[in-house]
Amino acid sequence: MSAATSSLRHLPSVDTVLRQPDVAALAGALARDVVVELVRVEIDRARREMLADNPANGSRVGDVVAAVLRAAAALRRPALRRVINATGVVLHTNLGRAPLSRAALAAAQEAASGYTNLEFDLDGGGRGSRHTLLEELVCRVTGAEAALAVNNNAAAVLLVLAELATGREVVVSRGQAVEIGGGFRIPDVLRQSGARLVEVGTTNRTRLADYEAAIGPETGALLHVHASNFRVVGFTEAVAPGALAALGRRRGVPVIDDQGSGCLLDVTRFGVPAALREPVVQESVATGVDLVCFSGDKLLGGPQAGIIAGNSALVTRLKRHPLARALRLDKGTIAALAATLLHYRLGEAEREVPVWQMIGMQPEQLQRRARSWSGRLRRAGIDAAVHADQSAIGGGSLPGVTLPTTVVAVAPPAGVSVDGLARALRTGETPVVARIAEDRMLIDPRTVRPDEERLLLGAIERAWRLQRNGDEATALDVVPT
Ligand SMILES: *Cc1c(COP(=O)(O)O)cnc(C)c1O
Repeated sequence: MSAATSSLRHLPSVDTVLRQPDVAALAGALARDVVVELVRVEIDRARREMLADNPANGSRVGDVVAAVLRAAAALRRPALRRVINATGVVLHTNLGRAPLSRAALAAAQEAASGYTNLEFDLDGGGRGSRHTLLEELVCRVTGAEAALAVNNNAAAVLLVLAELATGREVVVSRGQAVEIGGGFRIPDVLRQSGARLVEVGTTNRTRLADYEAAIGPETGALLHVHASNFRVVGFTEAVAPGALAALGRRRGVPVIDDQGSGCLLDVTRFGVPAALREPVVQESVATGVDLVCFSGDKLLGGPQAGIIAGNSALVTRLKRHPLARALRLDKGTIAALAATLLHYRLGEAEREVPVWQMIGMQPEQLQRRARSWSGRLRRAGIDAAVHADQSAIGGGSLPGVTLPTTVVAVAPPAGVSVDGLARALRTGETPVVARIAEDRMLIDPRTVRPDEERLLLGAIERAWRLQRNGDEATALDVVPT
């Protein structure tokens, strides 16, 4: 009998653990079945660890009780957790893109917590349509005739292509048959919609004549795609949506502009060089393209959604398409999106929409915050310093654009890797995600809300101490999975 097998006899029984006062006290908050299951799982885990001769985890009753308490606390932890974004990447796709404005959040909560006029006409007392709730606002802020909002921009493009081009051809510049990210590839979406892709031009140069030559009896639409996450530089040529719109009108073919970012403000107002300027939705609509598609949670700064704006006869057809039902928005999203659009309608987006607040944050303000954080961390004995850096916009918007910022560079404790420190920060009570450059963790104030500062600094201090005190302390901090 191995040492590990013989020590299995020391494993506590389920009843023994259940009788421990701390575990018994859980019964007030959790059903007994749930507690019994947690205890079983933790005893099993202890058994497996002993068989694997893992000396770090004892079989003592106290160890199992501690593990059960941690698992019980983790049970109430939501699957989707609030994370402090210290990366400075404003539209961080992995961290949920745009945070909502206060008004958008309040509207979503109000709509989701009770009943609403989602599909009820309050004037007439009869059935209404959820599609009309956002339409007027979208039209107002974009200048379009008609509009429809769906689940996300991928869904918007899919719906448009399914309506206009199933079994037909869609003409796309070779330089725009791209992958937007996360596997959203224009050629694949086209295939899913039942359309056939006709690529024209070359990777770097496409001319109007290329589109014109590709138009035939099978052509369902001309598609322009905004290069969201890359930039073609050098010997390049592309056809602007306006020229495509004119060609489409001349040849009787609908033109679609997948504008992507949903930018409604001129970014040169925020110090972005004119050469890197993002086209705004209003301009795309004004060029006369038939339909413009864009996201709700990129530069628009609202909830996840896809908006289609343009020609009213086409929008009416889209509303009747069976996919419109499958891709429709829920009441909470409609409420949040309407509140976000209202900020633009009222000319207060720069002030009220968090994405624009962050993009518009002044360099002096960023420097002041970074200095104050760094001072506080140093007083806590942490090796921190400030230096000038650049924040990215992210989320497939404004490729190549960076904004000047000041970051706090935190060095890990002696003998600890920066990855270890970053991991401790991610797995703490309030997860913090930061950038790593060389052997420092960089904290960018741009994406940290003022009301998150205290939590952020507390989390850094805690993670730093845990790392300095070694793995033992870290092991206790990490909830077993
Ligand atoms: C981001 C983007 C998409 C996908 O939008 P989602 O809202 O993420 O579905 C499609 N096209 C372009 C040009 C984009 O930038």
